[in-house]
Amino acid sequence: MKVVEKKRTRRDEVDEIIRAEDKWEPIGHTPMPELPDLRNWDMRLLKTYKPFYAPMCDLCCFCTYGKCDLTGDKRGACGIDISTQQARVVLLACCMGMSAHGGHARHVLHYLIEKYGRDYKINLGDQVNVEAPHIRTVLGLKPETLGDLEKAMEYVESQLIHLISSLHTGQEGSALDYESKALHASMLDHVAMEVADIAQIAGFGYPASVADTPLVGLGWGAVDRTKPVVLLIGHNPVTAIPIVDYLNANGLQDKVEVAGICCTALEVTRYSDKARVVGPLSRQLFFIRCGIADVIVTDEQCIRTDVPIEAARAGTALVATSDKVCYGLEDVSKQEADEIVSSMLNQGKQVLILEPEKAAEVAVRVALELAPKRNKVLTKPEEIPDLAKDHRLCNMCSQVCPNLLPVGDAIEAAKNGDLQPLVDVFNRCIGCGKCDQECPRHVPIIKMMQAAASWETWKIRAGRGPVMDTEIRKVGAPIVLGTIPGVIAIVGCSNFPEEIDEVAEIAEEFAKRKYIVVLSGCSAMVAGMRKDKEGKTLYEKYPPEFDAGCIINVGSCVSNAHITGAAMKIANIFATLPLRGNYEVIADYVLNRVGACGLAWGAYSQKAASIATGCNRLGIPVVVGPHSSKYRRLYMSRKEEDDWTVMDGREKKLVDTQEPSPEHLITVVESKERAIVTMAKLCIRKNDTPQGRQIKLTHYISLHKQYLGTLPDDLHLFIRRASDIPIFFKKEVMPYLEKVGWQEKPVLSLPTLVGTYPSEVPIDAVVH
Ligand code: SF4
Ligand code: SF4
Ligand code: SF4
Repeated sequence: MKVVEKKRTRRDEVDEIIRAEDKWEPIGHTPMPELPDLRNWDMRLLKTYKPFYAPMCDLCCFCTYGKCDLTGDKRGACGIDISTQQARVVLLACCMGMSAHGGHARHVLHYLIEKYGRDYKINLGDQVNVEAPHIRTVLGLKPETLGDLEKAMEYVESQLIHLISSLHTGQEGSALDYESKALHASMLDHVAMEVADIAQIAGFGYPASVADTPLVGLGWGAVDRTKPVVLLIGHNPVTAIPIVDYLNANGLQDKVEVAGICCTALEVTRYSDKARVVGPLSRQLFFIRCGIADVIVTDEQCIRTDVPIEAARAGTALVATSDKVCYGLEDVSKQEADEIVSSMLNQGKQVLILEPEKAAEVAVRVALELAPKRNKVLTKPEEIPDLAKDHRLCNMCSQVCPNLLPVGDAIEAAKNGDLQPLVDVFNRCIGCGKCDQECPRHVPIIKMMQAAASWETWKIRAGRGPVMDTEIRKVGAPIVLGTIPGVIAIVGCSNFPEEIDEVAEIAEEFAKRKYIVVLSGCSAMVAGMRKDKEGKTLYEKYPPEFDAGCIINVGSCVSNAHITGAAMKIANIFATLPLRGNYEVIADYVLNRVGACGLAWGAYSQKAASIATGCNRLGIPVVVGPHSSKYRRLYMSRKEEDDWTVMDGREKKLVDTQEPSPEHLITVVESKERAIVTMAKLCIRKNDTPQGRQIKLTHYISLHKQYLGTLPDDLHLFIRRASDIPIFFKKEVMPYLEKVGWQEKPVLSLPTLVGTYPSEVPIDAVVH
């Protein structure tokens, strides 16, 4: 008799990958979800938080049918309309962002697996048992080894090919479906970031299970330019770590300065507290032109594409080390180090070296040889009149400045001996270099800023990686009940609209009010660039725990996964909800019960777009600064018109809460003041107890009065019962409520969206 072999289904494959037989938690409804699997969750979110599109351009030129005019209700030759085209561009950005983190993760994994093997164990210390909340929740896998992290990356990559495919002409025809795909790509971004950072922590021995990480030098003034200086630019530590190892192995750790710009700086300071953080991305051009670096080592992401030109002008040697950023340079990876060093020193050759240990040796040796021959003199104030001698106040520089800075007037004042206006310009400069490029008289504006810049030094706490399970146990209840008013996550790049120290002001405002403040990336750096009257930075002033009134730096861009991961851990550790393949339940919990809000005040990159969109799928609202309107899309409710019905999970009945909480998933604001007030409001959740709501409203009201001068005009929407009214403001609030005709609203102890949209998840799954 013929034996018919049982057909192997995708679920069989998934079960094998996630080791389904290992019963650490029951498997939820969506282990390793594919594009359509969380689509209903997305559509439910998008029903309340509708995409709002602000096109940068009404044309499409994606294919050879174009350019197509998409204004009004016109459609392109392929049938696409303007909204769907915007959503397509958003998905493209999210795929790029996710791929950048994923490429980083792959590179780190590849390097570490080659070094230690696939069976190398992941160990995040004795305080972190839930090691990978994203991988557990999205895939359903509890990773134990580098090989398991590789499985997570293989899954992410398999999804990416479908996502990119949908961008092709003549594919998706719905803006909402493109948004669902963007949410999918961005959820995967957090998986990829988690893979990258866990691999780095495990493989490079970064700190984990410790809050009190070292304070390290911050600022361009912190770099000792009397020593040879190796400057790292980018995000990937695969070459940075061997540089530190080479210095240590050769007794050079006190003889050579290792400094970094952007996230590689944050990575290397997790490995060595002797390394320096120069500053954020926005100081890249400024610092390169200072000529302090003897050798620049580039890796990947957010590096100026003209680094070879700028490095050559500054007399700085260049070693590129990433296959993503080759600059057209000769790949000398197979040459002997002696030969490469000689060609760099004698012929001024810039090189590509894809072998990290060799790149490290070459960079250090070239720096040691080159430094004594270089003259690292900064522009002095007395040189300014001469540098500005050709300036004629045509103001062409001011006209191209994206931050509308009065550059021409500042140069005029500096020429006449008053440097203060140039100091003010520098503090609000995002380092694009457009002014300098535009000047018809070739006034070296960026060079002149050396005389205006503060050469003060600051401190930043080295990135600490994941939030510990012990910390979650302590703060889980107060966050969910609302008595810790919220978790404020300040993340992302340095395309700031105003002074660089606004980030520190925002962080301190919330820390003083006993919110939990977490930072990462360039925002973590600029938060350290302000001192109080006693000369202390925020990192020296506030405790480094994940607790009320504390400020922590989780680390680089990829460490952002630990911030969203902390919200997931609250659902798991405090509420005992299983993570495994249980994305909808966890996201629903976070949306309705975890009062967290992100701020990407200077977001500029595609990575920031996918990080934010990934937060949104998980139910975490994000506020972005004015430049971020150029991302083209927000997710906003129309608070009084929308339907705020949710399911009462205990009673199992639909309840119209009439409460727009959280009001938006991603929104743009124009000022620091608006950002602060909006974030306080976006920490309000339906689950707040009366005591918790009183605390949150106390901050919302007092911040609104402090920064905008009045009571909030939507206050009545967030008061459910009289017991929600903050006692301190009762006298003021009661007449207001009477005036607007306020009425009581329902209070729920277990609000959930599950049960309000088609889903395989039963309501009981959210009950704990
Ligand atoms: S993709 Fe569509 S809208 Fe764009 S250029 Fe081609 S036909 Fe025109
Ligand atoms: S563009 Fe050049 S010449 Fe004109 S105002 Fe600016 S610095 Fe002066
Ligand atoms: S480099 Fe700074 S001052 Fe110059 S245009 Fe850009 S933001 Fe404005």
